[in-house]
Amino acid sequence: MKKIVLMYHRVEDGNKKVSNFSTIYKFKRTVVSPQIIQRDVEFLRNRGWLHVGLSDFKHAEKGVFHLSFDDGYIDHIETVVPLLRKLKIKQASFSITTSVLENNVLPLPLDLIYFHISHGSLKTTLRQLNLPEEQKLSRALEKIKILTNEMTPREIRILSKNLKIDSATLKEIKKQYMRKEDVVSLAEQGFEICSHGVTHRDLTANVKYSYKELKESKEYLANLIGEQINVFSFPDGQYNTEILRFCNKAGYKTMLAIEGNGDSQVLPRVFATSEGLWQNKFIN
Ligand SMILES: [Zn+2]
Repeated sequence: MKKIVLMYHRVEDGNKKVSNFSTIYKFKRTVVSPQIIQRDVEFLRNRGWLHVGLSDFKHAEKGVFHLSFDDGYIDHIETVVPLLRKLKIKQASFSITTSVLENNVLPLPLDLIYFHISHGSLKTTLRQLNLPEEQKLSRALEKIKILTNEMTPREIRILSKNLKIDSATLKEIKKQYMRKEDVVSLAEQGFEICSHGVTHRDLTANVKYSYKELKESKEYLANLIGEQINVFSFPDGQYNTEILRFCNKAGYKTMLAIEGNGDSQVLPRVFATSEGLWQNKFIN
């Protein structure tokens, strides 16, 4: 028996309407249903595993698990919180990208592109981004990620214009995320609020902005909920020793990653996919 932190992203109830992003998120296997999460939890509990908060998790030897939800989607408020209540799980954690809480800030560039692909074709999207034609969605998404990783608000505005995404649609895209009051409410219910950066950029890609991202997002969330923020979740799981040094300098105590590095502060996570946990090699 080991200990694991499970990482979830979008959570969609199959009976409800399907989100505008589903094509890409489903391709990336980052959409799960609440039924899958419930099965994951029951699977572990039936084997004697116990759900604990992150501070207890760090000190436990084995047989504990922790649920973490990334990216601050509104799904987490509408679908996950009621599910956690039903499952009597009180200390799950939620990682928030702070720029999406601000109404005057545009959606993340990847959202614009995902929306465009979901409503048209990959071919036309790549053409409009001036990227070479690519048959494989996975390879195209990698190129798109590199392109969008360091976009400024001005560039994002130009991107939305190029993709012909009007202001009503931009509003719709932003509705996919939590609002400030949702984050406050999560904190009040005892859930752990983690920072996921200001803009969700890969912190290792251009290090000169990274400390600022770590510090500003931490202060923003602390001001919002009136509590210290101790946990940082690496966007795309990317980090290196320099980024870890910045995390310590900014005052983070725990970092959520995908791959661990043996450092007890850095918790590796299991990517919980729509296939369900029972097939996962980490459990055995
Ligand atoms: Zn993320």
